[in-house]
Amino acid sequence: LEPLYSFMIRVRIPGGVASAQQWLAFDSLSNTYGNNTLKLTTRQAFQFHGVIKRNLKKIMQGINDVLLDSIAACGDVNRNVMCTTNESLSPLVPAAYQMAKDISNHLLPRTTAYHEIWLNQKLLVDGKRDEEPIYGKTYLPRKFKIAIAIPPYNDTDIFSNDIGLIAIGKNDQLEGFNISVGGGLGMTFTEPGTYPRLGDIIGFVPYDNTLEVVEEVVKLQRDYGNRENRKKARLKYTIDRLGPESFKELLEKRLGYKLEDSRPYKFESNGDVFGWKQSSSGKWFLGLFVEHGRVRDEENYQLKSGLRKIASLGKSDFRLTGNQGLVIGGIRDEDKAEIESILKEYKIWPKYKLSGARKHAIACVALNTCTMAFAEAERYLPSLMDKIEVILDENGLTDDDILIRMTGCPNGCGRPYLGEIGFVGRSPGKYNMYLGAGFSGDRLNTLYRETLSEDEILKELKVLLARYAKERNKGERFGDFVSRVGIVGYQSGIKEIK
Ligand code: SF4
Repeated sequence: LEPLYSFMIRVRIPGGVASAQQWLAFDSLSNTYGNNTLKLTTRQAFQFHGVIKRNLKKIMQGINDVLLDSIAACGDVNRNVMCTTNESLSPLVPAAYQMAKDISNHLLPRTTAYHEIWLNQKLLVDGKRDEEPIYGKTYLPRKFKIAIAIPPYNDTDIFSNDIGLIAIGKNDQLEGFNISVGGGLGMTFTEPGTYPRLGDIIGFVPYDNTLEVVEEVVKLQRDYGNRENRKKARLKYTIDRLGPESFKELLEKRLGYKLEDSRPYKFESNGDVFGWKQSSSGKWFLGLFVEHGRVRDEENYQLKSGLRKIASLGKSDFRLTGNQGLVIGGIRDEDKAEIESILKEYKIWPKYKLSGARKHAIACVALNTCTMAFAEAERYLPSLMDKIEVILDENGLTDDDILIRMTGCPNGCGRPYLGEIGFVGRSPGKYNMYLGAGFSGDRLNTLYRETLSEDEILKELKVLLARYAKERNKGERFGDFVSRVGIVGYQSGIKEIK
């Protein structure tokens, strides 16, 4: 007998947009082969948890049946491409989303191994079909992440990606993207010289040139990335080793032209937008809070059943956000009331009053699902938030949007270094506390205290939040406040490489 191995399966779904039929299929697969829940991730992907080994093939085939797959959802290749996809936020969404899909397809590994292993397709005798025109024989030195954001929303945290694309439009037309390179948040406590880094903006790329520029950046990382030490193999280390200016020069040399100067843009937030909003096409979109992206039924909150019922109508689609949230989208005016009544029936929306901090909180899965975790995150943060909310209430801060992020290890999947308050697990029950990131994802936070217990965290927050309530300037964000008054050092923001 072998141990009862249990797996996590992640679905690649660019921009996180699923049809009603796909949602229904995932709902059913999670009940049949998973742990009855769906996890919406910080990269707009679906995860199934608790899939035991003998069911792996069946769930892969179930995913394939609704025209999706798990290819490149992990591994040393380009991962799920993120994009702002709530159409009510910007007329640029359809073109930006098309680019996310194009990039995802363009950078997809060509190997047929996935189909041979999981979908029972025949082994190939013609080896040529397994050639990788972009990745070559060795693939990339490490994972590669790409995200698109549409100002003023940085809900995909583009500066934490190897490539970040900032949509630039004119008269509701998407003209192209400012491109940032070299973001990445993972670090390792025991490996000196590893660090979180935000991307540098290197210029503007017209829409039609975007694929070739993205491809050349990927190829530069393929050719210059560190293949001796995986902990220092991400593009950010390649860029810092070569120098950002030299990296840009190399890129332009390979492209055969210079990048245009970046164009003006302004991000205001990296959080989600909640509630009903109508797009310019007349369709309705509802931004929903889903605590840490976990879709399941609870006694007075039948989220999974309610969303299943909405999906079964076939009158909407489902769009995952980069903050573990969900947008029910593409709803015609005449269908809105029916969907709204289901949301009420299942006690999903309108939800009881949420604090601004809880609405924006992110937690990775951590224990007991992730083998890298030193500490809890998803299972613990809700109860910590209950206690933090008492402090917020005492200081009149309940409605203030404050970014709190927690991960079970320093790998950074929940983007803790972009939290105005970030917690990174050190050991069970102990966290490093980081403070001072920018509210729009444009500035990293700084280590404030190490290995704090819950009591110590709450003691610190009592003092910090009381000071913030009393001493802040009008409209000043928490992260800006703690940096301005010197509670932590002020990190520099996004650099432009000329
Ligand atoms: Fe696992 Fe660490 Fe990622 Fe959390 S941040 S999911 S603990 S690897």
